[in-house]
Amino acid sequence: MNDRAKKIFEQLVVLPHDEYLEGLKAGHPLVCMRVADMPQSFLDNKIGECVLCSQKIWYRPYNEIATNKICAHCAMEMSNARDC
Ligand SMILES: [Zn+2]
Repeated sequence: MNDRAKKIFEQLVVLPHDEYLEGLKAGHPLVCMRVADMPQSFLDNKIGECVLCSQKIWYRPYNEIATNKICAHCAMEMSNARDC
């Protein structure tokens, strides 16, 4: 595991599901895969739009309440900008 992966791994936090959903309601960003990047992995996946770039994204039904769904590309750009 490289240093960047270690840093990310150390920041991972496992939340109880209720707390996770409260965070989504409060506007915490939800990172989603772009539809263009991967096939449907679950038959009940829903399609939304990245709030930053408007690309179509997949998300799970229980994440419907997330107000700030962003695609993995925008998340990566934000992460790179923060680390520079
Ligand atoms: Zn995006």
